[in-house]
Amino acid sequence: SWRFVANHVYVHIIAITEAQCGKLGDKMNTLFLDAQTHLKAAFSYIDISEDIQKRLKYPKKTTLVSIPVRMDDGRLEVFEGYRVQFDNTRGPTKGGIRFHPSVDLDEVTSLSFWMTIKCAVAGLPFGGAKGGITVDPKTLSRLELERLSRGYIRALADVIGPNRDIPAPDVNTNSTIMGWMAEEYFEIVREQRPDVITGKPIHLNGSLGREAATGKGALYTLLHWVKSQNIEPENTRIAVQGFGNAGFHFARLAKQAGFKIVALSDSRGGIYSEDGLDPERIMHHKKTRHELKAMLYCDASVCDEAEYKQISNADLLKQDVDVLVLAALENQVTEKNVAKVKAKVILEVANGPVSAGADDILFNNNITVLPDVLVNAGGVIVSYLEWVQNKTGLYWEESEVNERLKFRIVREAETIFNLARDKALSLRTAAYIHGVARIAGAIKEKGTRE
Ligand code: GLU
Repeated sequence: SWRFVANHVYVHIIAITEAQCGKLGDKMNTLFLDAQTHLKAAFSYIDISEDIQKRLKYPKKTTLVSIPVRMDDGRLEVFEGYRVQFDNTRGPTKGGIRFHPSVDLDEVTSLSFWMTIKCAVAGLPFGGAKGGITVDPKTLSRLELERLSRGYIRALADVIGPNRDIPAPDVNTNSTIMGWMAEEYFEIVREQRPDVITGKPIHLNGSLGREAATGKGALYTLLHWVKSQNIEPENTRIAVQGFGNAGFHFARLAKQAGFKIVALSDSRGGIYSEDGLDPERIMHHKKTRHELKAMLYCDASVCDEAEYKQISNADLLKQDVDVLVLAALENQVTEKNVAKVKAKVILEVANGPVSAGADDILFNNNITVLPDVLVNAGGVIVSYLEWVQNKTGLYWEESEVNERLKFRIVREAETIFNLARDKALSLRTAAYIHGVARIAGAIKEKGTRE
């Protein structure tokens, strides 16, 4: 397609120009430029050399591949695949693989940048990366999906590796897909290397607790926040945008912790109930209703729950709630709709759901944003624990995994909350300062080769 060719040319150009800094025109890299705004804000508070600032503006390595897949009807289809390894100063790069029709170089680059900051914020010995395939997986059969997943690894086997770059699940990918990918990698390297990929099925050396880890980490962060503000979960009403792995587990666990979930939505729309919703029951219905061949992706929606008031995704963002949870995709709250947000707190469970412009407005309006690079770090923290278990061959009980997750995320949250309070900064700026200081320290200690 024209976009595929345009992307090829674009990749080539950015390798030799300063396109990533916006000199190529802003249409193709607005998300990445937007993401970098937070970095600039953090730079103004820390003593960091010009050289290091410059290094953090560029992804280290961008790989674009085409993945031919034989479809069930005999046709050959070619898909676009990406892997961007943003920075590996603190360790091998780490980050998920996304299957979505909107995946492009700009998005994957931005996500790889956020992974770099996130791994540093969480204190993990990893740099950041992200991958993706431009595809709507709901249109594929299970076997087509497996061939596509394996094809992605065949195309990228030489850029990933247990001590080089370690993929994981992201939007529309799950443990089954990670299992296929790990298997394909073993075939290629002729060795069992479970530490090459995380988020694997439990039966294929995955970690207990990984599935719910992103939602659980987000809940620990929110609980730590409400405690610091003397707020009771029982008096806190929540609206959740997004009902995928992160959004569902967050909503389920938040209800268990006493919060009241009054609104939920997925890509088709949302539902509202003043008396509160039961996420577990709704997920059960959603799963039973859909009989898709692949059994992996849901065609059913929360809006099929006819007994509740139906709302759109745009309505969900406007609800008069205490906490608005953004657990879908990037750029949901922007300068265009930010004035409509009535919540007092935004919890960013997705990556980059609030644009930089909207973030400033929220800060000036005293709306607290608990930032993605802290809030959703639970996923990659348990990925790290999985990697450690794979390397040592010693597997932990779920309670041990959860304790380690809680300890780490609460420790980093505490540091960030204190920094923001002491210096009167937004929690995002505080989180970036905290993470960037670790990356800058590593770059400095490594010395110079240039
Ligand atoms: N895709 C998840 C994220 O955005 C998890 C990444 C990982 O576990 O490596 O943080």
